[in-house]
Amino acid sequence: RKSTVVITGASSGVGLYAAKAFARRGWHVVMACRDLVKAEKAAQEVGIPKDSYTLMHIDLGSLDSVRQFVNNFRASGQSLDAVVGNAAIYMPLIKEPLRSPEGYELTMTTNHLGHFLLCKLLLEDLKKSPAADKRMVILGTVTHNPDELGGKIPPRPDLGELEGFVAGFKSPISMIDGKKFEPVKAYKDSKVCNVLTMRELHRRYHESTGITFTSLYPGCVAETPLFRNHYPLFQKLFPLFQKYITGGYVSQELAGERVAAVVIEPEYKQSGAYWSWGNRQKKEGKSFVQRVSPQARDDAKAERLWDLSEKLVGLA
Ligand code: NDP
Repeated sequence: RKSTVVITGASSGVGLYAAKAFARRGWHVVMACRDLVKAEKAAQEVGIPKDSYTLMHIDLGSLDSVRQFVNNFRASGQSLDAVVGNAAIYMPLIKEPLRSPEGYELTMTTNHLGHFLLCKLLLEDLKKSPAADKRMVILGTVTHNPDELGGKIPPRPDLGELEGFVAGFKSPISMIDGKKFEPVKAYKDSKVCNVLTMRELHRRYHESTGITFTSLYPGCVAETPLFRNHYPLFQKLFPLFQKYITGGYVSQELAGERVAAVVIEPEYKQSGAYWSWGNRQKKEGKSFVQRVSPQARDDAKAERLWDLSEKLVGLA
């Protein structure tokens, strides 16, 4: 039996190259994407062999769609060895919040709430799987962490006391802290939520299930389409800046390899860990477990975020 991994947002960037890396290592990849035509084209372009992947529709910006995906996955009869929560949107230039069908702000919904629901539901499938080594990985980012150079640029993430979630997170509310809409901060806040979710999954389920829960910062993958909603000049200069000034630049290929390694290799079987290769790429490229930001290591906040997220996605 081939091992099977579900990867969200496998139609471009890190997710696409991770899919390729998994296929090369003999895994079967369920590419969970919102645009299947684009995903199929992308898979062929990077040369993923046809028999190593299945395309399945998911729109993480819609909680109904996440539920439908899980139903479809279960109906397909495949067993599950690993999940990679990778999809994300970053909309730095929008002035007004976009909304999910439920009425929630879209960046937080796609990046955090959609993945929260997906991970919670697929946990059941992982539990049932006969595999000895099962892992659930959510992508983090350096910008979640003001302790590091890459995280110092304002606006900094700040979940406040989760006032926006407490108040139901619908219009006129658009931010988790209940404050004024700020799209860059919404992205960073959502990535803090990703790390808190991973740590809370670990705390609640690692011991009882044996599943390994981790997160990683693959490096600055400056050429992915994540920055497609930014100014064209930014898109041109950012990779150069990361290559020649900060040294944070990594190729999409290498980022994809890192994701696959964290899911497959024995050295990354350390539940609760956040893996990084550093801000500057060293020649030997060694990974290490990095301490996450003060907000992302706040256990009380992780627990509250969990409870409030369960309510918002309709699980509580
Ligand atoms: P991309 O924009 O290249 O890829 C994002 C993927 O998410 C695409 O496949 C996109 O689909 C998908 N996606 C977006 N919205 C939805 C949705 N509603 N439903 C389903 N899929 C969706 O970004 P990256 O590859 O750069 O980013 C991937 C992850 O890596 C993110 O979690 C990001 O935070 C993280 N990361 C990226 C870094 C970087 O420097 N690029 C650094 C650190 C972390 P579609 O193709 O249809 O648009």
